[in-house]
Amino acid sequence: MRVFNFSAGPAMLPTEVMEHAAREFSDYHKTGCGIMELTHRGGEFTEVIEAAEKNIRTLMGIGDEHAVLFIQGGASLQFAMIPMNLHVPGTAMEYADTGAWSSAAIKEAKLFGDVKVVCSSKDTNYNKIPDIRHWKLDPKASYLHITSNNTIFGTQYHSFPETKIPLLADMSSDFMSRVVDVGQFDLIYAGAQKNIGPSGVAVVIIKKELVKRTPANTPTMLKYATYIDNKSLYNTPPTFAIYMIRLVTDWMIKKGGLAAIEKINDTKSEALYETIEEGDFYKNPVEPASRSKMNVVFRLPTEVLEEKFVKEAKAKGLIGLKGHRSVGGIRASIYNAMPLEGVEKLIDFMNEFEKNNS
Ligand SMILES: *Cc1c(COP(=O)(O)O)cnc(C)c1O
Repeated sequence: MRVFNFSAGPAMLPTEVMEHAAREFSDYHKTGCGIMELTHRGGEFTEVIEAAEKNIRTLMGIGDEHAVLFIQGGASLQFAMIPMNLHVPGTAMEYADTGAWSSAAIKEAKLFGDVKVVCSSKDTNYNKIPDIRHWKLDPKASYLHITSNNTIFGTQYHSFPETKIPLLADMSSDFMSRVVDVGQFDLIYAGAQKNIGPSGVAVVIIKKELVKRTPANTPTMLKYATYIDNKSLYNTPPTFAIYMIRLVTDWMIKKGGLAAIEKINDTKSEALYETIEEGDFYKNPVEPASRSKMNVVFRLPTEVLEEKFVKEAKAKGLIGLKGHRSVGGIRASIYNAMPLEGVEKLIDFMNEFEKNNS
């Protein structure tokens, strides 16, 4: 039986997609083997990777000036690849510090040069996205890096800074969950395992011109140009993960694209925040203007009740609700694959739990 999985990642994938993959798991398109057993240079896989890229381009409206790449190492490798490839010697790399993942990106960048943190919400335990109007940006910096959705703290940008320098974004936990103007960004990256597939691959969308900056002594596998020149097929890519992205993005197109998906995500998150706001039992620590539509965090009156909540929810087929170990509390991750029905089930359970425990 399928449950409603509120885990932050790896996360739930659409049941339809899981069933589709299961049907052709050991015999892909009458080849007598699974897609993961087929050469990455053959016709079957070429069709898969090309369709995955085309789907992402179509869904996000990506034009020719950006490349769409599939790279192993997750979002965390991008924390290092970005400064390795894109730091301009003699200039600072600018970062917005909005949570644990931003901090991890900053830590890596510091290995490669001067880092300037342009804003931070650390003082208030990362409960907001600092007001963009007050950031002090240097027009000579290498780039500005932001984290569009903060998976652990439950915050999200609802507008993006306008910059003259390249704008780069870690979109791991809200990638393809809403309409975004890709033209505003010079680089977008996301580990697939939150919104569009299994772990094992990150999608990187990069303005091709940017790689002119990359130092010549950068290792081949860590150069964006290698992936651009070889269509992500310089070495063996994570074929099964890319195949799953293809299926998930097919599903997204069938659902009506990002605008339609965004609408459902809005409905889901609004319903959940409304339930939290209704009484005094549940409390969300995030400033309303910065609340995430992907990761909804909340507290109960005591930690004992939080533990009980997680346990009883699990018994009802609502799993993965425990907050990140660094912050505690409850976190409901409601990515694209979480149907409205799952959120409604959670809301019913929250109302019942409140009645029985307050
Ligand atoms: C999960 C996550 C990461 C880390 O992703 P990996 O693929 O495990 O390296 C980085 N940034 C954000 C915003 C995340 O949510």
